[in-house]
Amino acid sequence: MDRKKDLAARRPTGSGTATHCPYCALQCGIKVQVGPAGPLVRPRPFPVNRGVLCPKGWAAAELLRHPDRLRTPLVREAKGAPLSPLPWPEALDRTAAAIRRIQLTYGRHSFGLFGGGGLTNEKVYLLGKFARVGLKTRSIDYNGRFCMSSAAVAMKRAFGLDRGLPFPIADISGAEVVVLVGANVSETMPPLEQYLKEQRSRGGSLIVIDPRRTSTACHADLHLPLRPGSDAALALGLLHLILAEDRVDWEFVAKRTVGFEEVRKQAIAFWPERAARLTGLSPSQLREVASLLGKAKTLLVLSGRGQEQQSESVGNLSAWINLCLALGKVGKPFCGFGSLTGQGNGQGGREHGQKADQLPGYRSLEAAEDRTHLCRFWGIAEEELPHSGPTAEPLLRSCGEAGGLQGLLVMGSNPAISAPKSLEVMERLRNLEFLVVSDFFLSETAALADVVLPAAQWAEEEGTMTNLEGRVILRERALAPPPGVWNDLEILHALAERLGWGEAFPAEAIQVFDELRRASAGGAADYSGISYPRLRQGEELFWPCPSPGHPGTPRPFLDQFATPDGKARFHPIQGLGPAETPDSAFPLWLTTGRLLVHYQSGTQTRRSPTLLRLESEPTVAIHPEMAKGLKIEAGDRVRVSTRRGFVRAVARISKGLRMDCLFLPFHWGGEGSANRVTNPVLDLESGMPEFKCCAARVERESEGCSNPEINPFEGKPENLRKNP
Ligand code: SF4
Repeated sequence: MDRKKDLAARRPTGSGTATHCPYCALQCGIKVQVGPAGPLVRPRPFPVNRGVLCPKGWAAAELLRHPDRLRTPLVREAKGAPLSPLPWPEALDRTAAAIRRIQLTYGRHSFGLFGGGGLTNEKVYLLGKFARVGLKTRSIDYNGRFCMSSAAVAMKRAFGLDRGLPFPIADISGAEVVVLVGANVSETMPPLEQYLKEQRSRGGSLIVIDPRRTSTACHADLHLPLRPGSDAALALGLLHLILAEDRVDWEFVAKRTVGFEEVRKQAIAFWPERAARLTGLSPSQLREVASLLGKAKTLLVLSGRGQEQQSESVGNLSAWINLCLALGKVGKPFCGFGSLTGQGNGQGGREHGQKADQLPGYRSLEAAEDRTHLCRFWGIAEEELPHSGPTAEPLLRSCGEAGGLQGLLVMGSNPAISAPKSLEVMERLRNLEFLVVSDFFLSETAALADVVLPAAQWAEEEGTMTNLEGRVILRERALAPPPGVWNDLEILHALAERLGWGEAFPAEAIQVFDELRRASAGGAADYSGISYPRLRQGEELFWPCPSPGHPGTPRPFLDQFATPDGKARFHPIQGLGPAETPDSAFPLWLTTGRLLVHYQSGTQTRRSPTLLRLESEPTVAIHPEMAKGLKIEAGDRVRVSTRRGFVRAVARISKGLRMDCLFLPFHWGGEGSANRVTNPVLDLESGMPEFKCCAARVERESEGCSNPEINPFEGKPENLRKNP
């Protein structure tokens, strides 16, 4: 057959299934078409991505029939023995027996669960219910603790409600000024760039605040390369100037907020020269930004992980929220503060019960009326419902300790890479009496397990996700999972059956969603009016949506905030700056983050041939002057050390970086795993580790590697939309 005929024969027929990308919180609309050569992803004109996909979305189907897919349960007969196949019934029996044995021996809280921000709402709900109603354990948290938890705390306490973006993404196009704080959307969610482009083409200004001159910063009208960890000092310095220039919206502050006086007094101490010293910027840069913000009629401040993954991250976020409130730029069209949620279901994943302190519908495990509501709904006595448990980091740290976890079920997460002090976490997971992991590949965490359960992927099951705007979307099943693979709801149902309460744990997504939406009724995240039929009809539904005829709530703060008196709260900043700063032994700042073609711990994207061709090994970016001084050249193998150990990576020379900074992507395992060296110190209010700034040094190990060129995407935004 000639090549043309061959291609035609392999082309899928039919229009395919309309569904959504498996990766980030934008949840771009895609079509999955199945043809003779296997499944393929195509973009579709969904309101969020408007037909644009990033390379990860284009390549997503490569993993559906990947040879590494797990297709049968694996078990380890003894610690140290290899994993070997076992039929499903025996693997599930073994898991249920281990749960029972551990809870009987060590107490009910000794068995824990660890979920993920990529799980569907249905899985999140069922996993939380499995913990609280089935196992009656307080020991459950999830990897979103390392991603979205500080934004959740800061927004909840300021606005009474945590919804990543309390406005539709389309508002970006209409805002006069957009500020991105620690967010590199050109690489993390490229389709969002079209809104920024529209905003600027309408005469708007884009300000990017980031220690790196990222590809997003290359588009900006102003880029502020601040010192890592000085985000709150910058916001306080800007508030000082807003006060000095009499740009405060006093009417808004009086009518719609509480607590400005204390914040005003605090900002007085951040005069421009002091704020400039703290941030490494110049007073004139601060004045220029303050002037733009002060004069803008509409303003959106969008926060990313840069300022949210720090030990003072709730303070950072609060400082920027304070600034927006003082300017009166919240709760109005084209105005607001929002956090650009990262993981696919980073929003829904924090609403329905897999968090350590949470019940479905954003209810609290510590609020009496919330406990009563869920106990009635689930038909359990109130004393049976556990209280809040430890957050992710202390939960993982307790593995194998006396009084800590002795058994753990991990679903949709790879804490061996994504948790701080990842080497120690691996050791602790090994110390567990029993570890069971549900995943579709043998991730670094699954490789440590006593039982591994092969799970279905995104296109092989249906379920809802809630994107970064609070828009609930339905991921349709496009194809059947490979033989031998179950979905997570079936796994939870089968375990519940073995433990004696199977009927309370349906295995069908639509049934679980129906229960979830009823459980959420009256809660802050009220999904009770949302249904699969409404979503299938293409309705654009943003929560809260409290009745079947309700149109949803794209902008929840237009009339009032979700606090008891309807007013937003200012919060003074308690601490300032990172826990660790450079010194003579570790003279540089180390910051970590994502690359365009990889996602989170890399379990998926490191297996995509297309994506791996573009970024194939751990790299660290170094400023050219610093590299010259250290005699490091592009492509050299280097060792990046901090007080916690070292990682090995290939040197990339990046003139877009501050000279005192290193940038280490966190997608890799083994000796390239960034969280071997990041600082595990936590933000006290949210439990967020300080992934984004610590002291480090870099040294050359040897020369030469397979991929020595300068980052091909840096400073070349036109490259970002190229299809792989
Ligand atoms: Fe998928 Fe996010 Fe890329 Fe869209 S931007 S294609 S949701 S990874």
